[in-house]
Order: sequence, then structure tokens, then C-alpha cells
Amino acid sequence: MRKNIVAGNWKMNCTLPEGKKLASEVIHMVEDEVNNDAEVILIPPFIHLTGIQSLIGSSERIFLGAQNCHQSKSGAYTGEVSAAMLVSCGATYVILGHSERREYFGETDELLSEKVAFTLENNLKPIFCCGERLEVREAGDHEKFVGSQVEKALFGLSEENIKNVVIAYEPVWAIGTGKTASAEQAQEMHAFIRKQIADKYSQAVADGISILYGGSVKPDNAKEIFSQPDVDGGLIGGASLKSRDFTNIVKAFD
Ligand code: PGA
Repeated sequence: MRKNIVAGNWKMNCTLPEGKKLASEVIHMVEDEVNNDAEVILIPPFIHLTGIQSLIGSSERIFLGAQNCHQSKSGAYTGEVSAAMLVSCGATYVILGHSERREYFGETDELLSEKVAFTLENNLKPIFCCGERLEVREAGDHEKFVGSQVEKALFGLSEENIKNVVIAYEPVWAIGTGKTASAEQAQEMHAFIRKQIADKYSQAVADGISILYGGSVKPDNAKEIFSQPDVDGGLIGGASLKSRDFTNIVKAFD
């Protein structure tokens, strides 16, 4: 009914030769070894998009994504990249609202709602990230907090548009820390987000949206996390830089 997805966010890592080596290894291993139909998304830095797309070619299961994009069509925004540019380089997806963008680049839910709407208008599918910091979870406010991120950034969308959004729940305390949410904590939040979408749109819309978990997913914990009913895959940081580990995470759906 909805897609399983494993997306590798390379962040600011890899020179072009390193990125090409990593991508070719992943593409070969995934084509040769994986026995499931999870979609795989490679998300390199902007500057490598074209180079990596030429390796992906017209694969039916491996797609290209970018890590961010600007909310305007074009213009005097030195250093920025537009949705149309990403599409023209072969990108199908774009990560929006990663916690590192929120923390280091001041991205707010209001800005993200503009970015989400604009990318969808340009036929680019957002992977919208949400997630609470440790102190919010410890205070027991995590559902309220994540619920507000989802509502502010996504609930201005029409039913037709929200169907093209992928959501990634990434508790900030689990990113790059080696500390994952337990499978139960992930399931609980994913079910909460899905119910929120069902209440706002419909159960059918909510059931069609892929909700990924992100935060220290590794080959040895992927199977348990992905086996939760509302977890439809992962957004992988550190482990996406190792072709063997990343492929083994995709194989968790076998
Ligand atoms: P991590 O990063 O897998 O290294 O924890 C996840 C992310 O930031 O998307």
C-alpha cells in the first residue's frame, strides 16, 4: 500500500571520486543482493548530483535526492540552489528541515512550510524531517512538539500534495550519537504522526504516506526498527557512507 524506503543522507561528506565509488558499490550490491522492493535514495551533496545520477541511470529502484533547496524560483540568492535546478540534475527527492538545517541554519517551521509547498509545485518530493531534542522528550512533550512541527510545515497542503510527501521522524538525541530510539519509541511516534494525518486528511491518505525513522540506524538494529507496523524505512546518515552497511540496511526488508 505504501512504499518502503531507505534513504542515505551523505551530509557534507565525500569528494566526487569518493562519492562515485560509494554510489557504484551501493548500486551494484543493491541490484545483486537485495530481495525486496524497498526504494533506495542516494542523497549526496549538491555538487555531486549529476555525477551520481549518471551512475544511477534509469534504475527503477534507486533514486537521487538532494539535502536542501531554496524556497524561491530563482534570483539573487548567492550560494543557493532551486528546486528546478535539482530536478534538472535528476533529483526526485529533497530533504527539508533536517535538524542540522534547523539548528545551524535557523530553518523554522514557517520557512519549511514554504519550502515544502514550493518543491511540490516543482515536482520534487520532500522528505520532511521532524523530531524532538532530548529535553523535550524528558519533559514528556515529544508528541506535542513533533505534532506541531508536522502541522505547521505540512497541513497547509492539499490532499493531492500531501500524498507526495515522505516524513522522516528523527529524534535529535539519536542523530549521530549511536543512541537509537527503541523500536517501541519509534512505533509510538510514527503511529501518532499517522493518526494526526488521518485526523486532518483521511485514513486513506495517512495509510499511503511513508514515514521513515532516522537516528543511528545500523545493520544490526534496522530489522527490528523496520519491522514496526508504522515504520516504513529509514533515513540513514553515518551508515550510508559505508556501502556494505547501507546495503545491509536495505536488506533488512528481505
Ligand atoms: P545518523 O544520521 O544515521 O548518522 O544518526 C541520521 C540523519 O541525520 O539523517
